[in-house]
Amino acid sequence: MKVILLYVSLLLLLFSCRNSQDFSNATAITNVSTIDAKDGIQKRRTVIFEGGRIVKVGDVSDLESLKFKQKFDGTGKFLIPGLWDAHVHFAYIEELAPSMFDLFLAYGVTSVRDTGGKLDFVRYWKNQANLDSLNAPRVMIAGPLLDGHPNVYDGSMPTRPPLSLGAKSVEDAVNLVHTFDSVGVDLIKSYEMLTPEQFEAVLKASTGKGLKVTGHVPLSMDVRAASNAGLASMEHLRNLEMSCATNWKELLQKRREMLFNGRGETGYVLRSNIHTAQRIEAIENYDDKVADSVLNNLKSNDTWQIPTLSIMTASTNRHFLKDEYLKSFELLPPEVKAKWKSGSTMFGGRPINPERKKYSDWLQMMVKKVNDKEISIMAGTDCPIFFLTPGLSLHEELKLLVDSGLTPLEALESATITPAKYFDLDHKLGLIREGYLADFVLLSTNPLENISNTKDINMVVKNGSVKSREDLDIILNSLRDQ
Ligand SMILES: [Zn+2]
Repeated sequence: MKVILLYVSLLLLLFSCRNSQDFSNATAITNVSTIDAKDGIQKRRTVIFEGGRIVKVGDVSDLESLKFKQKFDGTGKFLIPGLWDAHVHFAYIEELAPSMFDLFLAYGVTSVRDTGGKLDFVRYWKNQANLDSLNAPRVMIAGPLLDGHPNVYDGSMPTRPPLSLGAKSVEDAVNLVHTFDSVGVDLIKSYEMLTPEQFEAVLKASTGKGLKVTGHVPLSMDVRAASNAGLASMEHLRNLEMSCATNWKELLQKRREMLFNGRGETGYVLRSNIHTAQRIEAIENYDDKVADSVLNNLKSNDTWQIPTLSIMTASTNRHFLKDEYLKSFELLPPEVKAKWKSGSTMFGGRPINPERKKYSDWLQMMVKKVNDKEISIMAGTDCPIFFLTPGLSLHEELKLLVDSGLTPLEALESATITPAKYFDLDHKLGLIREGYLADFVLLSTNPLENISNTKDINMVVKNGSVKSREDLDIILNSLRDQ
């Protein structure tokens, strides 16, 4: 009896503690539909957050009597976790970097993964983001592309900025991993000119330090071999077509010969020659059974995919001719704006290259297959390359993923909980749950009905800091007036 009494009083105590929870310093979004990848859509929710964390999520009627510091009526609106762009480059256009935080946040992108740039430069922006975490996205960095010799992004031309470092030996490559790790990169990005020996040594050194390696599969390797060696993820489905062809072995042999014979070329030219020689041939020799075995291999090794359809289909999809992009160019620093305006007009005036179209279509078909195999996909854009406005272009990626066969909820998953999981942050980021970080985007229309509704942003919350539509417009206007 005593035990029961004790139990009952404990329960009462717990219950009364809960009810007396003080939310007078908290902010609430009331009567909103929450959407996340685990629970789908939940209607009539009230989400309460304080100190950067979600402290309570419950049914609106249960929490009606509570008092809050700040309250927003979410009636008719939809709350999604803050979005990730899992493939960006702060260093690609250095003069644009100072505008990128604002652009990301204004478009609901609260976390980004930088997949390559000069070490000091990307570290600087990661530090800036940490110092001002209420007004900047979370920034995860790979540091420079870890390439072989000759390296592709060697800084020899404006179109080849110095994003990479080229390792001439296995030892060189391993030393670069140590250097990047010692300054605190979050992952390693391997690149296309690595030899198989260098690539395997990079993977070993990186995993030994708890760093994931993402990559462009080296041209000297087959996708299966790269995945078997422990590659955590692949960017752009790069070089996948060459491994899904009936003649994949022959293509690999030829590539190795080209790499050997082309040592005197720049990395950029050599890579481009190989792509030109093999890409379309590979697609023409595409075989469903070979592709199936490759994808099964990726699935069994848990090799994730970041298809970056927004860049990969850009020259055929031509996002940069759309009104919303032309308007977004007004937000760029004057020099960048001028270049993008004239550059996009020039590209838009050219006929669509039928081979490029074939490749774009093939990639979209493969994204569906990857998704059907339940291989994890992350949404990434490659902004600001090729007129992809930071922030806005993430929404392009979500739409392209849906056009390729993902459901809108799966597309949201690829930009929320999946990238959080990539960095082992999924216990606190990417869902709308008690204890999770208060990073979210309030939408005026339902993204599950039309994925383009992710652009219909009413409010962005980063680490608990609320930015209303008016605040976001002020941020955008300040960029416009640069
Ligand atoms: Zn990239």
